[in-house]
Amino acid sequence: MPTAVTVAPPLDRLSLPDAGGHFGRYGGVFVPETLMTALEELGAAYDAARKDPAFQGELRAQLKHFAGRPSPLYFAERLTQHCGGAKIYLKREDTLHTGAHKINNALGQAILAKRMGKQRIIAETGAGQHGVATAAVCAKFGFECVIYMGAVDMERQALNVFRMRLMGAEVRGVEAGQKTLKEAINEAMRDWVTNVRGTHYILGSALGSHPYPMMVRDFHRVIGQETREQILAAEGRLPDEMIACVGGGSNAIGFFFDFLEEANVRLIGVEAGGRGIRRGDHAARFEGGKLGVLQGCKTYILQDTDGQIELTHSVSAGLDYAAIGPEHAFYRDRNRIDYAYACDDEVLEVFQLCSRLEGIIPALESTHALVHGLKRAKQMRKDEILVINLSGRGDKDVNQVAKMLGVKL
Ligand SMILES: *Cc1c(COP(=O)(O)O)cnc(C)c1O
Repeated sequence: MPTAVTVAPPLDRLSLPDAGGHFGRYGGVFVPETLMTALEELGAAYDAARKDPAFQGELRAQLKHFAGRPSPLYFAERLTQHCGGAKIYLKREDTLHTGAHKINNALGQAILAKRMGKQRIIAETGAGQHGVATAAVCAKFGFECVIYMGAVDMERQALNVFRMRLMGAEVRGVEAGQKTLKEAINEAMRDWVTNVRGTHYILGSALGSHPYPMMVRDFHRVIGQETREQILAAEGRLPDEMIACVGGGSNAIGFFFDFLEEANVRLIGVEAGGRGIRRGDHAARFEGGKLGVLQGCKTYILQDTDGQIELTHSVSAGLDYAAIGPEHAFYRDRNRIDYAYACDDEVLEVFQLCSRLEGIIPALESTHALVHGLKRAKQMRKDEILVINLSGRGDKDVNQVAKMLGVKL
């Protein structure tokens, strides 16, 4: 398992992506002609907004009052004792409104859509977490809201479907293909092409065509910015290592971004190892994935030799996607961020361990970061500091975990 100590050369993280949305050879814009205008309009609007103190001010206020920021940086005393190595801190994105980091991006894009004069919001969702965050901000700002979700996911995540509907969203089931996240994204893109004038598409991770990977990253940078301030206040220095789970890569890139130039801070992203690294049994794009294009973006993708997208599997729906955000591929090539994976069985164990020792039920996605974090803490010295991003809470997962443990509720 890669846990390499790497020291990156100085790097101007703010110069990326370039004007075409490239992170080196990754990223870019790969969409039908009909969406080019929409993406350009969005790029220009975001460019103006990010430099506008009024936009940043409103975003900051809503992050505080609606989402509940800043989220705590919490010293996990009993997990630290359990491992007997590095001091373990958890960045508590699980404490945010709607249960995960996703609200940061949903708020940012909703405020941007309002500024652009849009009346209607669409989004895709897999497990339903991004759909719930989007439904919440749409209710708050009075947008019409349509969420696309695979029919299979709707059945698996019935509670989240009901949550979205309570908040006034229309949830449209997608019956194509595998009836999961990939098909839901296709359907959302189709809707956007048709209704582009009055509609904004809130994409849920640091993925897709430019400007999404950059914009979503920027909206999550607050995670790392707070972490920096909080760890300096708590320990008087930066951490030795930071770990986050990587689905599309939004919580991880937001957590890491303001540390990329800190050569003494090791950064590790953790993918879903599923049932093990065999074709169709996992979603670890850096373990067997290849360069390709999927849903608007050039990056590492799990695909067969004909370029057909492979089936993926993970115990956590939020990490179960065949492509990884392009910025991650770039920093992996540069050895600035290392990547590891955690498997379903380890995740199930640590899900219970964290609940029992800390009184915190972590999301199954976030538990991937915990699995690797606990292994690393044991290898680190007691005077070293490790910060793990707890991207979300596990309330949404308790039914599934009960079933896997054979517990009847
Ligand atoms: C959606 C989700 C993820 C994965 O998405 P990223 O874009 O990789 O952050 C991770 N954790 C939680 C709790 C999620 O809901």
